[in-house]
Amino acid sequence: MRLLLVLFLTIASIGASATNKTLDIGLFWNDEPREIVVQPGDGSYTLLGNGQEILQVKKETIVRLKVENGLIHLRTITADLGVFGEVEFKRNTWGSSLKIQRTDHDKKLHEYHDEFVIKPFSGKLRIINHVYIENYVSGVVESEAGSKEPKEYYKVQSVICRTYALNNRRRHEAEGFQLCDKVHCQVYHRRSKSNPDIILGTKETIGIVIVDSDINLITAAFYSNCGGFTCNSEDVWSSRLGYLRERLDPYCHAEPHAYWRKAVSKQEWINYLENKFRYPVADSAALKVALDYCPDIRYHTLNDSIAYVPFKTVRSDWKLKSAFFSIDQVQDSIVIEGRGYGHGVGLCQEGAMNMAKRGFTYDQILQYYYQNIHLVNLSVIDFFRSE
Ligand SMILES: [Zn+2]
Ligand SMILES: [Zn+2]
Repeated sequence: MRLLLVLFLTIASIGASATNKTLDIGLFWNDEPREIVVQPGDGSYTLLGNGQEILQVKKETIVRLKVENGLIHLRTITADLGVFGEVEFKRNTWGSSLKIQRTDHDKKLHEYHDEFVIKPFSGKLRIINHVYIENYVSGVVESEAGSKEPKEYYKVQSVICRTYALNNRRRHEAEGFQLCDKVHCQVYHRRSKSNPDIILGTKETIGIVIVDSDINLITAAFYSNCGGFTCNSEDVWSSRLGYLRERLDPYCHAEPHAYWRKAVSKQEWINYLENKFRYPVADSAALKVALDYCPDIRYHTLNDSIAYVPFKTVRSDWKLKSAFFSIDQVQDSIVIEGRGYGHGVGLCQEGAMNMAKRGFTYDQILQYYYQNIHLVNLSVIDFFRSE
């Protein structure tokens, strides 16, 4: 009944309500600059120092921010604006964006939408982008999925990104923001600008997130390529999640990361098995299994009746692209032939891209890789939770 109510409300509200939620993203996380130069990209800003208006920052205005003695020193080309414990850039108009350039090793321009709070810490600048969630989502989609995919795929990635962001919004609470801009959370290097289909993909799924049968946001796991067979969550991580189930994937075989190959020394491989897993390498039958292994489907261990050799550990120790592979002895080497790239739990990006090219819709693609899920509008979850 609860689910029916929520789904009914969802249908009533999808497309009709734009959520005005914002996120606080820590920029340049773990590699924060001491000094930056900023300039509006679009629109204009009001610059505040310790909560008081300091300057109207118009398109041609360049402001330099530098940490000095635990405070932020502000300058323009013509004026010294003083030192402050906290600096804010408040946008004057919707759509405003700020270009940020650090003055040290990375001279690239990073342009972000919306507003900024900047504070000094340990001689560096903590730059927090207070960003409208949909502007953040399109920026992440561009960083994570590139600019050459069909729009339907950008819709898939937008829903995943939004779900992930909201599910992990307390990850950096202790540092004073919600998510970082690195792969630790989701890669967010700039506002989306390279392909209008990315912004359209975000807009056409505005506010939509993925929930499980208990109306909880899902762990929207994804990776590059599953090699034709996805994994159960418990085969890779510790917990069993009902929507992360293994399944055949016929859509990613011909994609760039479908196959890989690596040769290693036979003796090193044998020593590794013996030392790490107490594998009985002196037993010729057991040794044959470890040197000549060719599964027809994806298994997660070598042969449990001989010894427990989990492939996820082998993958990590040997830096393999996936834990889905065969082993073949060639003279003094063994050749590991693998399928796919990544952990294999949840959505296969290259399979999903191919499905989008073949005409599947974004909801069909999400339902394919995540089992028994529902797509709902964020405002509906908020409504439901506030009851
Ligand atoms: Zn993070
Ligand atoms: Zn796949």
